[in-house]
Amino acid sequence: MQAIILLGAPGAGKGTLAEGLKTSTDYLHVSTGDMLRAAVKAGRPVGLEAKSYMEKGELVPDAVIMKIVTERIEQDPPSVKYMFDGFPRTLDQASMLDDVLASHGGRITHVFMLDVPRDMLVSRLSGRRVCKNCGAVYHVQNIPPRVAGVCDVCQGPLYQRPDDCEATVLNRLEVFKKQTESLIEYYREKGVLVKIDAGRDRELAKADIVARLGS
Ligand code: AMP
Repeated sequence: MQAIILLGAPGAGKGTLAEGLKTSTDYLHVSTGDMLRAAVKAGRPVGLEAKSYMEKGELVPDAVIMKIVTERIEQDPPSVKYMFDGFPRTLDQASMLDDVLASHGGRITHVFMLDVPRDMLVSRLSGRRVCKNCGAVYHVQNIPPRVAGVCDVCQGPLYQRPDDCEATVLNRLEVFKKQTESLIEYYREKGVLVKIDAGRDRELAKADIVARLGS
């Protein structure tokens, strides 16, 4: 059981990069943000527990996160290779992940730190719109839909995630900065940290990661 981690601020493009990497590699994309949103939508107890933190842009407690991640790992065969996105976000999560993987004979091979300037992050997030039906992602300026407010793929209504409004975005970036400094250090000491310039074209950033995985 191997794992890589995409470590990047909200808006760094973790989700989009992960989608691209899924087709070029055999890593399984696991996003704790997506898992939590699905749990909220389904009205599961874990979703109810997480909802108020998510709306404020605060981190959901480690115990809740580890429960959903561990449940997921227990379901998969030992040959699986994970690409974690948005996880771990704290040192405790990182150390618990090491333990869970080790107990399945696995380890983290690469932690890709996606580097993007802060003003670009704010603009990417506050302009993001998501389809309520199919989850397709747009941006009011960079990737506008053909008809404003309507999904090109399924004609569903587009909405702004409650945590993408500008005030919450600034809080999420602040929370991210505080929490990641120690994580970066943790993985640098383990010798698995790889810095990627993710402020440029997504395809270039993706090609860079694929090349690192192959070497
Ligand atoms: P994301 O889609 O990764 O930006 O996550 C959306 C929200 O879900 C975050 O702002 C947090 O409230 C919560 N969340 C997702 N992953 C984690 C995690 N690993 N630890 C704590 N909270 C998380």
